[in-house]
Amino acid sequence: MKVAKFGGSSLASAEQVQKVVDIIQADPQRRFVVVSAPGKRHADDTKVTDLLLATCEGLAASKDVRPLLTEIYARYAAIAAPFQVAPELLAEIQSALQQFLTLSPNDDPHFHDKILASGEDNNARLIAGILQASGLAARYLNPEELGILVTDEPQNARILPASYTKINAWAETEEILVIPGFFGYTEDGEICTFSRGGSDISGALVAAGVNATLYENFTDVDGIFSAHPGYVHHPEPIKELTYREMRELSYAGFTVLHDEALMPSYRAKIPVVIKNTNNPTHPGTMITNQRNNLTQPVVGVASDEGFCMIYIRKYLMNREVGFTLRVLEIFKEFDLNYEHMPSGIDDISIIMRANQLNPVLEEELLRKIAYEIDPDELRMTHDLSMVVVVGEGMRQRVGITADSTAALARKNINLEMINQGSSEVSIMFGIHKEQEKAAVRTLYYTFFD
Ligand code: ASP
Repeated sequence: MKVAKFGGSSLASAEQVQKVVDIIQADPQRRFVVVSAPGKRHADDTKVTDLLLATCEGLAASKDVRPLLTEIYARYAAIAAPFQVAPELLAEIQSALQQFLTLSPNDDPHFHDKILASGEDNNARLIAGILQASGLAARYLNPEELGILVTDEPQNARILPASYTKINAWAETEEILVIPGFFGYTEDGEICTFSRGGSDISGALVAAGVNATLYENFTDVDGIFSAHPGYVHHPEPIKELTYREMRELSYAGFTVLHDEALMPSYRAKIPVVIKNTNNPTHPGTMITNQRNNLTQPVVGVASDEGFCMIYIRKYLMNREVGFTLRVLEIFKEFDLNYEHMPSGIDDISIIMRANQLNPVLEEELLRKIAYEIDPDELRMTHDLSMVVVVGEGMRQRVGITADSTAALARKNINLEMINQGSSEVSIMFGIHKEQEKAAVRTLYYTFFD
């Protein structure tokens, strides 16, 4: 049995929803359907979740939000129009939206969650109605009834482990269950949403809970490409990649899925396929635990800008017990995350997202490192981009690093840092941001035709 999750763009209009109905109808194994709120119908459109966010802000500022509620209702009504749904359904959505006028923004910690979650909740009710009208045995299932239990962290909930067994009780369903994504319930019965884009989390959780054979994540692209289409002309689509490769690739251009979203399906070893609602016969990109076909050593080249690097050199560093620990303790004190930390016998580089720092903080950080560590050299490099070449097949292939550096050298790209992950699934290059595009291109053409 399969769990199919449909993103906002797949549910933005009646025309899109008809494609979803056809997809569900085409495969009786699609038993669990997880839905987002209606997304954008065109580039300048507003997602229903964003309209709901504006409603929250309006209510908090004591503004008249009725025009917004009318606009939101109109979105559902437009989706419902060509289908023969029960008239009560739209009335229910209308009255659910009107309920917001009675909420008090100031003394309710779940005020935002209640309003934002309604985007998916109303959509799940509507899609269930549309599936019924199309002759399918479908029904709406509330996440509380299903068993999605979450921590009490408004707009940033995390899954509670008890969810899995509760959800598992539904595994044998004969009906098609339509479940709203993006939110769950706390142990006290309060609605709490995941972070934005969190319907992907719900989908992966349901797939893990019911032990699905496949988690299908339907979106509006044919899958994951082997490079950013903005950088490389028509990059090859990736047919299959492992969870590990996906993590290594999770830089700009590869963020088809919410980063943390796949955690439940990863743990439960459930394969995920990213598919296109607008092109459902395309095989999409399959994400698995293990990949057998390793003929192509590299699956993708990803990159991102906005990094900086602190370089620390100290003679006989390797003999100083606890050296790295002391450096990292300073990072912790400043509440800073780092992404990579390549090291040599007498030096380490710490690469981090630059947006965590400002000039004052940076000065304080460097001063603290200088004082506590007493390095021979301490240097900060700004405006770095990270470019990463990823593939499980690299382990068995000699010369990937050599081919990469040779290609970069031919283009006169200066390397500030090279780091090969210990897993040998990736090679990372730190370069000046101006050379990022050129680096991605040349690396891509080195490993792909
Ligand atoms: N509707 C929510 C959002 O826009 C959740 C989602 O679509 O995954 O963030």
